[in-house]
Amino acid sequence: MSDQPHRLLGRRVFLFRSQDTTAPACAPLAQIAPSCLAFRGTACMTCRDACEPGAIRFSLAIGGARPRVEAGICTGCGECVPGCPASAISIVPRPMEETADA
Ligand code: SF4
Ligand code: SF4
Repeated sequence: MSDQPHRLLGRRVFLFRSQDTTAPACAPLAQIAPSCLAFRGTACMTCRDACEPGAIRFSLAIGGARPRVEAGICTGCGECVPGCPASAISIVPRPMEETADA
């Protein structure tokens, strides 16, 4: 019971970070194709490790954790691209609705 306040504090910090927006409005965006190994049942988190801003998050799913790109955090820097063993990541223009909202 004594560590409960720490857990709550950590949860608040996590929620704040998940809403963080660091990407410039006009920045391109990383996109992960279905050829990603994680979508095919092979454990891989190389892209997450390469992403310094922490824009690549994994969600649990049947068959293993699957990556997604947090558009508000991705800067389009491309650091995640060369390490992907499946060449599944490309840098694409940000969708118009996102650039218009920013
Ligand atoms: S590095 Fe490539 S294959 Fe591995 S999880 Fe990321 S997108 Fe998928
Ligand atoms: S392009 Fe850069 S910021 Fe975006 S997911 Fe890849 S490494 Fe992270």
